[in-house]
Amino acid sequence: MTPLHSQAPRLVLKVDVDTFSGTREGVPRLLELFEREGVRATFFFCLGPDNTGKAVKRVFRKGFVKKVLRASPAASYGLANMLYGTLLPAPDIGRDPRAIAAMRAVAAAGHECGIHGWDHVDWHDRLPRMDGAEVRETVGKCHARFREIFGEAARVSAAPGWTATGESVEAQEAAGIEATSDSRGGPPFHPLKPDGTPAGYVEIPSTLPTLDELLASDEFGASAAAREGTAGELCRLVRDAGGLHVHSIHTEIEGGRALHALFARQLQAWKGAGVRFVTLGEAARNLRAPGSGVPARPLVFGTLPGRATLVAMQGAGVSLDSMRFPRSEPGLDISAGRRRGGGRGGRGTSLERP
Ligand SMILES: [Zn+2]
Repeated sequence: MTPLHSQAPRLVLKVDVDTFSGTREGVPRLLELFEREGVRATFFFCLGPDNTGKAVKRVFRKGFVKKVLRASPAASYGLANMLYGTLLPAPDIGRDPRAIAAMRAVAAAGHECGIHGWDHVDWHDRLPRMDGAEVRETVGKCHARFREIFGEAARVSAAPGWTATGESVEAQEAAGIEATSDSRGGPPFHPLKPDGTPAGYVEIPSTLPTLDELLASDEFGASAAAREGTAGELCRLVRDAGGLHVHSIHTEIEGGRALHALFARQLQAWKGAGVRFVTLGEAARNLRAPGSGVPARPLVFGTLPGRATLVAMQGAGVSLDSMRFPRSEPGLDISAGRRRGGGRGGRGTSLERP
C-alpha cells in the first residue's frame, strides 16, 4: 500500500531566535511543546550581541505594538528585552552559559540548528550598506561561534528579518552553507551572487504569513475570538496548496507567554490535517536530487502586508501564488534607491510601505 504521507503536505517549522531572553526563556518553552507534540523543527540562533533595545523606538513608531501584537506585547517581548543595547548593555548571547545550554538542548533533542545572525538589529538595519568585506566578516563570526557552541559546522542559515543580498549569498556560500531560508514567498531557488552567477546552495523561502502579520490584519487581530481563526487559516493554506511550506515563528512571539497556547493549537491543527514536519536540511537534500530543476533567481526587496520593514523576495519571473498575500507594489527598481545589492537583473520593489 502506498503510504498516505507520501502525498502529505510537508512543513518546515523555522524557529527564529532573535534575542537573549528568547534564547533563555522562549527556546525551552518551545522545546517542551515540540517534545509533547512529537514535532521536529529547525532553530536559527542569533549568536552575538542583543541590541534589541535600539530597535524599540523604530518598532514603536511603526505601530508594531499597537497594530501587530494586540495581545500584550510586554508579555511577548519583555521590558528588559526592549532596553538591551540602550539603557542596559547588550548581552552577548553566544557567551552566556544559560543561553548556550538552551541552544545545546535544542540539538540534543534532535532538532536541526542553524545560524540566524550575529547582531540581528545591525544586520537588519545596515546590510544593504555593508561592503562585501564586512558582510563576509560578519558571516564568518557567526560560523566560528556556531562551531564553538555546537562542535560542528553550520549547514543552514536564515537571515535576520529576511534581510539578504547578493553579498550575503556569496558570503554564506563561501562559509559552506547548504541551505538558507532568507526570503519570503514562492518556490525554492538558487540565489544569485553579485556577479550574476547562482549560489550552489538552495534558498527555501518562508511561504506562509507569520502569526504577527496575520494579527496585524483586522480579520484576525480584532479580538481574542478572531485570533483563534489564525490556526484554521494557516492550516488551510498548507493543506490546500500541498507540497513544501516553510513557516517562520519567533521564540519571542510563539515562545512567549501571550501567544504560546495559540501556537500549540496551531501545531495540533496541522497534525490533525496530516501535515508532515521536515527540517530545512531535509527539504534541501530532496531539492538537490538530480533533475529537481531548481531555478536561479536574484534576491530583491519588497513589502508584505502586516510587516513594517522590507523583506527579501525572489525576483524575475517569480510566482507568489503560494503566498496568501499579493505583493503590494511590484515593479520599482530598487537600484536607484537607498537599498541596493539585491541581485542584478532582478525586478525590484518599493522602498517603503505607503
Ligand atoms: Zn529574527
